[in-house]
Amino acid sequence: NDFKVDNSLARLGKPFSEASMPTVVPAPQWIAFNSSLAQQLQLPEQYWQTDAGLNLFSGNNLPEWATPAAHAYAGHQFGHFVPQLGDGRALLLAEVIDRDGKRVDMQLKGAGTTPFSRRGDGRSPLGPVLREYLISEAMHALGIPSTRALAAVITGDWVQRDTAEPGAILTRIASSHIRVGSFQYIAHRGANHQAQNGEQTELKTFADYVIKRHYPECLSQANPYLAFLTAVIDNQAKLIANWMSIGFIHGVMNTDNMTISGETIDYGPCAFMDSFNPAQVYSYIDSQGRYAWGNQPKIASWNLARFAETLLPLIAEQREQAIELASAAVQSFGQRNEAYFLQLMAKKIGLQQVTADDEGLIAGFLQLLHSNTVDFSQGFRLLSQSVTDSNSGTITLMTDKAAWQHWASAWQQRLAVQGLDLSQVQANMDATNPAIIPRNHIIAKVIQQATTDGDLRLFNQLKQALATPFELKPDDAFLAAPPSDKEQIKNTFCG
Ligand code: AMP
Ligand code: MG
Ligand code: MG
Repeated sequence: NDFKVDNSLARLGKPFSEASMPTVVPAPQWIAFNSSLAQQLQLPEQYWQTDAGLNLFSGNNLPEWATPAAHAYAGHQFGHFVPQLGDGRALLLAEVIDRDGKRVDMQLKGAGTTPFSRRGDGRSPLGPVLREYLISEAMHALGIPSTRALAAVITGDWVQRDTAEPGAILTRIASSHIRVGSFQYIAHRGANHQAQNGEQTELKTFADYVIKRHYPECLSQANPYLAFLTAVIDNQAKLIANWMSIGFIHGVMNTDNMTISGETIDYGPCAFMDSFNPAQVYSYIDSQGRYAWGNQPKIASWNLARFAETLLPLIAEQREQAIELASAAVQSFGQRNEAYFLQLMAKKIGLQQVTADDEGLIAGFLQLLHSNTVDFSQGFRLLSQSVTDSNSGTITLMTDKAAWQHWASAWQQRLAVQGLDLSQVQANMDATNPAIIPRNHIIAKVIQQATTDGDLRLFNQLKQALATPFELKPDDAFLAAPPSDKEQIKNTFCG
């Protein structure tokens, strides 16, 4: 077997991580196992839905290759800086070198308290584990960079939230779990210790480690730290554009939930929008709408400014010069994000290339979705049927038919200019506008059935449907928007 493990972050030791053991749980049982991901990781078959696997993924009996450690990080939560957060309910088990030679983290989430748990119990209820499993794998199937789910197990004991809920543990795979908050933690320590040290050795150690791990191409640049900052900014600009193009609202874009790799992380209160509204928020705790769909670029840019601040001592010796260089990089976020967004949205309405006029066309369609309270995913999915006939497809979801016809005729003219075969345009659109997304009301049903009846059938059906999100299955119950206002989920919660 070619299973390869390492533990480069654990080896860096303190203050970047702290060794910590999982808590033994009474009666672990399998919920789900991702065999295609296991194959990618070359995980030995001895762990594939076996008792050895249960021991590993519950943390009850770890193999000798695991070096469990909690990663230290800080973060701005809803704009307020917390100097120490860290893995309070997560443990890095090992890094795996997958079959393409790519290094990924293997992490248990919900395996008990760590040195960073503060007053938390270090545990996770079943509901959030199922949510994260389904939505992170759906993101992956949609082609959007995301942490992955390798395994889910139930612990056999109870976790107290509003009520007592079954405990569960998710095994998360990520390029790494290093976040903007990881840099904030080190930089904040540096600022405190500077009086004694006079230099930023921890920060340099960490930045060099992360650059080598995630952005090795920056090492050969004239200013590797500025190149690193710019690369992270570009990846995040792309990621946020991707989110917005599928109606995804992350819900808790704190700096500790923004990865350096550019992968989506933390599926706590996230949601896919039903009817389109740029101000849409689902997260119960986001009462101000800070993390609304349309605010996501602004917030990402704010977070990246916090990231840039941590790198200032490395970017240039003179602080003013460092600020100038870093600010220019952060300011480029808006343009980068807009360009990515327009490219993606153009593709969704059947355009290969974006011209200056297309911006208005795209905004016009979003405006129609908004003013007619049209479901975001369905509005786009049905649009391919309108390519050749504006009286079919998305029109069925519109109340203001005249406004639709006005937009549709401009759009059809624009499509004609492209000179592409219209059936090809339709096929392209159906390969970019998902038919199936993890809808809130269905996830809620999955969680309810699993939690109250131990029934995983709906979970398994949805998991399977989400693996091929562009395939239309006409009788599919997962396709539909919530049928009534009553069935719409208005609020999501952190687990
Ligand atoms: P999150 O809101 O999921 O991004 O988590 C923010 C911080 O709270 C992180 O440091 C988590 O490790 C910590 N945290 C969340 N839930 C728990 C829990 N049940 N026990 C301990 N720490 C937790
Ligand atoms: Mg988090
Ligand atoms: Mg969370």
